Amino acid sequence: MTSEIGIDDLPIRDELRGKSPYGAPQLDVPVRLNTNENPYPLPEPLVERIAERVREAARTLNRYPDRDAVELRTALAAYLTRTAGHEVGPQQVWAANGSNEVLQQLLQTFAGPGRLAIGFEPSYSMHGLIARGTGTGWISGPRREDFRIDTEAATAAIAEHRPDVVFVTSPNNPTGTAVDAGTVLALHEAAQAAKPSLVVVDEAYVEFSHRPSLLPLIEGRPNLVVSRTMSKAFGAAGLRLGYLAAHPAVVDAVQLVRLPYHLSAVTQATALAALEHTDTLLGYVEALKAERDRLVAELLAAGYEVTESDANFVQFGRFEDAHAVWRSILDRGVLVRDNGVPGWLRVTAGTPQENDAFLDAVRALKKEQS
Ligand code: PMP
Repeated sequence: MTSEIGIDDLPIRDELRGKSPYGAPQLDVPVRLNTNENPYPLPEPLVERIAERVREAARTLNRYPDRDAVELRTALAAYLTRTAGHEVGPQQVWAANGSNEVLQQLLQTFAGPGRLAIGFEPSYSMHGLIARGTGTGWISGPRREDFRIDTEAATAAIAEHRPDVVFVTSPNNPTGTAVDAGTVLALHEAAQAAKPSLVVVDEAYVEFSHRPSLLPLIEGRPNLVVSRTMSKAFGAAGLRLGYLAAHPAVVDAVQLVRLPYHLSAVTQATALAALEHTDTLLGYVEALKAERDRLVAELLAAGYEVTESDANFVQFGRFEDAHAVWRSILDRGVLVRDNGVPGWLRVTAGTPQENDAFLDAVRALKKEQS
């Protein structure tokens, strides 16, 4: 009886009717290169340090955690100051459960019902999904054939739609393309002229980039926010810790929507332990950048097209039927991602062994086809 009742039989919001949730397949396959995770487990000394810090936190779990996560925000600010070429204070940093929650809080604060957000697609699908979840209208902005942002077309779209929030993803997911500072400044200028609106630069993958972070652009621009995550470079996707850097007023503004005590004491303790091991973790990032560059070179050598990548993944093609190719690669024990970009698939840089398995699979495919 109850199993016959579906979502659409419930009194859900109209804009959610008939929609699908975010869902990268979680399949049990030997080589999983589909969700842009870091393939390296945390090093043992860090695992020990996490256990120590969490044990300490457990002693006061009867109490709510630090609602403002001051120690963690101070450590994140120090990390940004050291690595992004710009001095950032704890009052300019805010943290939440993954950058997805940071982005959700930004949309709850600056967008919502009756307001609009724009992204330049293909890009990270959650921007549109979080917009939907917060009742924000979504505008799919244009991108060039080579997946770069067309500054003229993008600024024209901003002038036309006058969005309240503008998403710029750099490096972009799923294409891997980075955005230069000039483009961000042009979009920011257009967004201020049109509304003014908030420009969110999503730098989830920036540690893997050949280019420096766009973070220094927040200086003197209170409507420009940079969002970051510990899910990729810090190899801690399971931790769920994302953060933003912006003018302190933005940090004050998101307090209006954040749930009290949203970051658990266990999360704060674990993130602090990971930040103590930043140098080791950034060493893995260097190895992954080299593997990413190797994937690009080997895919080109095997006769595939590749989009220039500044991330820990590579978009490759072109295929008449990308989904059929995705399936053939899966049949060879390697899970990559079909993001629905016609003609293209995306592979995450894994360990050298995982990448070899992927390269063997795609080389074999090419042979079969010729
Ligand atoms: N931004 C981009 C561009 C992403 O690709 C992802 C994760 N795939 C996120 C944000 C969210 O990451 P998290 O919530 O794990 O921080």
